Amino acid sequence: MQILVLNCGSSSAKFAVMDTASGQEVIAGLAQRIGSPQATLGWKMAGVKAERAIPGADHKAALETIVSVLRELGLAEGIRGIGHRVVHGGEHFSASRIVDATVVDGIRDCIPLGPLHNPANLVGIELGAVLFPGLAQVAVFDTAFHQTMPRQAYLYAVPWSWYEEHHARRYGFHGTSHRFVSRQAAEQLGRPYDQCRTIVAHLGNGCSACAIKDGQSVDTTMGLTPLEGLVMGTRSGDVDPALIGYLAPRLGITADKVIDALNKQSGLQGLSGLSNDMRTLLEAAGNGNDRAKLAVEVFVYRLAKAIAGLAVPLGRIDALVFTGGIGENAAPIRAQILDQLAVFGFRVDETRNRAHGRSVGGRITADGATTALVVPTNEELMIALDTAALVAA
Ligand code: ADP
Repeated sequence: MQILVLNCGSSSAKFAVMDTASGQEVIAGLAQRIGSPQATLGWKMAGVKAERAIPGADHKAALETIVSVLRELGLAEGIRGIGHRVVHGGEHFSASRIVDATVVDGIRDCIPLGPLHNPANLVGIELGAVLFPGLAQVAVFDTAFHQTMPRQAYLYAVPWSWYEEHHARRYGFHGTSHRFVSRQAAEQLGRPYDQCRTIVAHLGNGCSACAIKDGQSVDTTMGLTPLEGLVMGTRSGDVDPALIGYLAPRLGITADKVIDALNKQSGLQGLSGLSNDMRTLLEAAGNGNDRAKLAVEVFVYRLAKAIAGLAVPLGRIDALVFTGGIGENAAPIRAQILDQLAVFGFRVDETRNRAHGRSVGGRITADGATTALVVPTNEELMIALDTAALVAA
């Protein structure tokens, strides 16, 4: 079944047509700088790239152009459903859902929790209904997979009313990726998914790790927002919340501005003063740049500590799985993490690790050692599979 996957952001719209039978991407593209004179729509099909200027386009104009491109390429007629990535589903959604009025209301209710993303996601859903009348739409939530976390994992130790009245708790994100990757890992391990205990490290620009026990997320590193947890490209991850009150008057800025800097000027970027990009930092560290080296050291140490913590709810680790741009490509980072987790029996196999595990079904640890795997994520395919399943039902 061919499914259109849409990921509407505040100034961008990512799209793909996925064929769920083959698992292949038919076309993928991105409208960028929506709302500006520089707005463009780019796409790639069968290895061929193309781009069209859409100056001044708003979301509606951008999506209309996407639909005309799909028509011109003869793809629009074959689409059987639209799968939308929705960032925050709060406690309303523990699985993907066919979009109806109740689902739209639920997504709207979660806007205070995802103020940057949910409104854009809703725009995508509204336009999808207009551009493809009669076609089923499905909402796939970043948070849904983590709704199985037990109370001791999702509650903050704060006044009870903050949770009860304001829904302040840990939600977790990257759920679509953690679910896809942990299922692939179970297949590679040759174990039923509901008997598998894995830790997935999704390391991209945003980074999170998740403990998956018998097919369910039991803990993850992100919290109320994606700022909590690991060191990321530009996000700090965990800091003492008192830092905000300490710094705001000293810097002469509001608490909101401090939080903005924790999101956009921290992490690898803040520590290195050079870049948020792991490739750049590994190269600079190799050339003797001490701050780049330090940024990588902090990134690895904090990640290793978090992974060790996620072993607690699992009791046993069948596999540690690396995914995302860094997880899939940065062999030296994987090696350093496995070294720091030697206490769990990990021992890297350098040859397999350099080959990103491709030679041996993803495995990058030595025979006899605890298993670590590299599994490429594919959130678009997971969204398409969910959509196809709900459409077929
Ligand atoms: P996003 O979270 O935006 O989807 P990605 O999953 O593409 O991002 O991950 C981006 C990160 O992956 C960047 O830090 C980038 O430097 C890193 N990365 C990609 N390729 C490599 C590589 N060959 N070696 C090291 N890091 C890499």
